[in-house]
Amino acid sequence: MQPKQPKRGVSNRTRTIIFIVLTFVIGAALLLTSSNNQNLEKTTISSVIQRANSGEISKLSVTNERIEVTKTGDEDPTEYAIRDTSGSLQEQGLTNADVELEFESSQGGAAFWIGVAGQFIVPLIIIGVIIMMFRSAQGQGSQAMSFGKSKARLYGNEKDTVTFKDIAGNDNAKEDLEEVVDFLKNPKKFSAVGAKIPKGVLLVGPPGTGKTMIARAVAGEAKVPYFSISGSEFVEMFVGVGASRVRDLFSKAKKNAPAIIFVDEIDAVGRKRGSGMGGGHDEREQTLNQILVEMDGFEQGQNVIVLAATNRADVLDPALLRPGRFDRRVNIGLPDRGDREAILDVHFKNKPKAKDVDIKALAGKTAGSSGADLANIVNEAAIKTARRNAKKITNKDVIGAFEKVAIGPERKKSMMSEEEKELTAYHEAGHAIVGHVLPESDMVHKVTIVSRGHAGGVTWFIPERDEAYHTIGWYKDVLARIMGGRAAEKIIYGAENITTGAGGSDLQKAAEIARDMVMNMGMGSGDLRDLVFSTDDGMMLGRMTHEKLYSEETANRIDTEVAKLMKEAADRAEEVIKANKALVEKLKVQLLAKETVEADEILEIFKGAKYPASAKL
Ligand code: ADP
Repeated sequence: MQPKQPKRGVSNRTRTIIFIVLTFVIGAALLLTSSNNQNLEKTTISSVIQRANSGEISKLSVTNERIEVTKTGDEDPTEYAIRDTSGSLQEQGLTNADVELEFESSQGGAAFWIGVAGQFIVPLIIIGVIIMMFRSAQGQGSQAMSFGKSKARLYGNEKDTVTFKDIAGNDNAKEDLEEVVDFLKNPKKFSAVGAKIPKGVLLVGPPGTGKTMIARAVAGEAKVPYFSISGSEFVEMFVGVGASRVRDLFSKAKKNAPAIIFVDEIDAVGRKRGSGMGGGHDEREQTLNQILVEMDGFEQGQNVIVLAATNRADVLDPALLRPGRFDRRVNIGLPDRGDREAILDVHFKNKPKAKDVDIKALAGKTAGSSGADLANIVNEAAIKTARRNAKKITNKDVIGAFEKVAIGPERKKSMMSEEEKELTAYHEAGHAIVGHVLPESDMVHKVTIVSRGHAGGVTWFIPERDEAYHTIGWYKDVLARIMGGRAAEKIIYGAENITTGAGGSDLQKAAEIARDMVMNMGMGSGDLRDLVFSTDDGMMLGRMTHEKLYSEETANRIDTEVAKLMKEAADRAEEVIKANKALVEKLKVQLLAKETVEADEILEIFKGAKYPASAKL
């Protein structure tokens, strides 16, 4: 969720305009005050009286401070004298009654005020301008003055509060959190029987599964304010800032208790600390310590509950997970088929859709997608509909959106030459036939040689149903079908003519799966079977560290085993392709003609495909 930027009082443009106007005013004021004395010559009061008595002066203009002198025959004053206020002009010796005397109560209206402006207003304006410049520097650039403040956002008063009803599926998580809602709503009920209210709940699950949404819903259900901050926001350039942000955040929440604090990506600050080499002075560590101190400092009855989200609970510092801290854990997994349908329903709810939109089928095809992915598909479908100026979302929009989200946007303009197109067609047909023939592989859903995203072409497999577990056979079949692309190239063009087509993604993906099989799933052969090999991930001196918990010799054996699995997969793929070369040719022809071939047609083309004994495990 994108936080709303708080509005500043004065926009940049207004500030510039004020600045220019002020410069003019100050300039004009200074000009006027100085021009006031410009053409008048200074003289003494005795000289004025003497010349007035002898008839050389026709008019004297008297103000509080001075006397301006107009000589006989002149129209305007040409001299001035500082006034002696101890007595009147007559008392000072003026006898000539013909001299016109003009008394002004002050230095003469505008000029007086300009004088005042010069003395008081101008400095005030200058101070104002300095303050404004200072504030704008603070606002845009360094935020120097608000460093120690947390950037927590308060959502308590929003009208569009989220409740559990807005969250489809995730029933177990909702059930677990129902209890937290109850704590916040009726704390007395629990304290009456001496039960301690939990302080921290860890929400663990892959990105996009609705952890943020669920935290908001807990606040929404309990009708309490919700403060949200991301772990990475705690950590800034300067040491100590994170810790002071934590203090600020907790004090805000305590003031608004009962309340919820939601810390997203807690692993950004809460990773396991290194083995002491950081010296305990590193910024992240201080921030983490401050979180622990604050949580320990909650008094009973304070009623602030911290929900924290992560997708890697295994990397968290054990200190965070101790009783009294994040001692409760709610797992939020990827949605199953039923939940996917429910999530799609929620997101389609306020959108006009045609009758042909098949939500059930889409839910079936989207195994492995998170709630956020599904929301994204629905939104893409709506965008597609709007772009063709239609009023209702059709199934075609939905399928287009699904494919765009799953494998990237279609590149309409092909940069490929005819030869490259043919090579891509063979490559994809290779994947397709191996996937089709091997018994545990998923169904071929679609094959295309239209570029999508980064891929030159795509062969798309979709599992028939959601499966929580996969056999070693499934993994081996998946490895073989991934190697099928390059295997086809080898058989058609010869081993020495292989291209980069497979290098980038296919081989990398296969190597990743093979390594995962050996290291994390105990699927290596011989005495590596049933063993797992882990690395200890931690932070030291601000860097991630991966410490191997096995010997160099074992590391070599793992590498050998990974290579063996990949070779086996490549050999099986070649065997399948050799046995079904005619069918590969047939699909290639069809791909060159139509660019995209759908599931039904592929089944038709591959009728009678053989599973040679040499490819069997
Ligand atoms: P996370 O915090 O786990 O990364 P979010 O809570 O930010 O995930 O979810 C992102 C978006 O995905 C939500 O705004 C919502 O639109 C959608 N979403 C995820 N799970 C669900 C769900 N169970 N029901 C409805 N929408 C969901």
